[in-house]
Amino acid sequence: MKKNDRLVLTIEDLGEDGVGIGRLDGYIWFVKDALIGDMVEASVMKMKKNYGFARLVQILKPAPGRVKARCPVARACGGCQLQELSYEEQLHFKERKVCNHLKRIGGVGGLLLPEEAALADETPDAIVMEPIIRMEEPWRYRNKAQYPIGHTKDGRLTAGFYAGRTHALIPLPEGGCLLSSEEDQGLLKVILDFMQEYGIQSYQETEHTGLVRHVLLRKGFYSGQQMVCLVINGETLPHAEVLSARLKGAGVASLSLSVNMERTNVIMGKHTIHLYGPGYITDRIGKLEYRVSPDSFYQVNPLQTKKLYETALEFAGLTGNETVWDLYCGIGTISLFLAQKARMVYGVEVVLQAVWDARENALRNGIHNAEFFVGEAEEVLPQQYEQNQIRADVIVVDPPRKGCAQACLDTILKMAPDRVVYVSCDSATLGRDVKYLSGGGYRLTRVRTIDMFPMSGHVETVALLTKKAQ
Ligand code: SAH
Repeated sequence: MKKNDRLVLTIEDLGEDGVGIGRLDGYIWFVKDALIGDMVEASVMKMKKNYGFARLVQILKPAPGRVKARCPVARACGGCQLQELSYEEQLHFKERKVCNHLKRIGGVGGLLLPEEAALADETPDAIVMEPIIRMEEPWRYRNKAQYPIGHTKDGRLTAGFYAGRTHALIPLPEGGCLLSSEEDQGLLKVILDFMQEYGIQSYQETEHTGLVRHVLLRKGFYSGQQMVCLVINGETLPHAEVLSARLKGAGVASLSLSVNMERTNVIMGKHTIHLYGPGYITDRIGKLEYRVSPDSFYQVNPLQTKKLYETALEFAGLTGNETVWDLYCGIGTISLFLAQKARMVYGVEVVLQAVWDARENALRNGIHNAEFFVGEAEEVLPQQYEQNQIRADVIVVDPPRKGCAQACLDTILKMAPDRVVYVSCDSATLGRDVKYLSGGGYRLTRVRTIDMFPMSGHVETVALLTKKAQ
């Protein structure tokens, strides 16, 4: 086989990012935009020793779950990977992915998919995954979007998204992104018109020139409050007072600038300038009210977040007497959920602004049994354990995709809580960490997936690990 040769493949699996995977004579092919069950014709792009990449030429026989994408730029845009798969099949894909990772990487032999529950009696150490928590309406669920600003091919200023794996700008289609808030379009128009009128340039990555890099929009779904933050390659925004007046007129609660003058892929800059408003928005999840600053992490799907936290709370099995640690706590959302049912909750988070939010959020909700530490979980937890002899009945972790650092897991094992509730946005690292904790005396007892990111290949998992009887 060589470049541009044609091949016919049946797609058997989807990769991490939703890329179709097929096999031919033991060799693995990755075909973007091909779905599980599709029979496709593809053209060879690049070949490595054991695997290669091929471009989809045509679908010879569509997969049973194949649907027409709703968004006209679904294939080009890096945001969605699964729009051409029916929602039902997306959910199956996600459950299977988590199950496979926990089995293969996590070594959890007895794990069964919800539909395999009937096999539980004949499976040694059976654990049946609880059914995925789905969305009723899997569109327009995001409360936040970061739009890169650039130019269309014919030179018009535009907002869009990056193509998958590259920084080619895909302009937003008419009607905007179907995962984001409907109001985003109007706000982007105000900002782009303002830039056009005053000759304010968009940032050019290759030359490191121009001013406006990204526009971050975040909306409190419950409060309705809208926050705008312009990420700029400079210290000031010319005619900022005009933009402020226009956005105020459009009902925006807060406008800020994030200064990012570095050549970097990181979106947000290191410091923020508030132009008006409090610089944060407030929102509610369930009964609790939260303040969210621009640099703080806040889950993007508020409807599903409530269900995620309820699941974590249920798995934590609190009676009111427990000491609980919430590692990677962000603005304290899970901590404060837990605090309502625990004796004391300690949160740990590395972003200082998020910890300020967390402390303020505790006060705001009249919660006095929550305390927050700034720092890396893998530093703060061992320190507190060794110097202050702190203990834990339950430890909740919600790490970023790379999972928990080993020093953190080692301290968890030393502290020996009754239960570890692991909230994960990457089931491969979840598998790795489950394996480590299993080696240290814990057993996986419950698993539930939550679809926080419909149309993308990502999925959230809550896993309960219970200390084995001595
Ligand atoms: N539980 C929170 C946040 C989860 S996102 C929520 O549901 O909103 C993961 C968080 O971990 C982010 O806020 C990130 O800033 C923080 N973080 C990343 N690495 C960390 C580390 N080593 N120690 C502590 N916090 C970390």
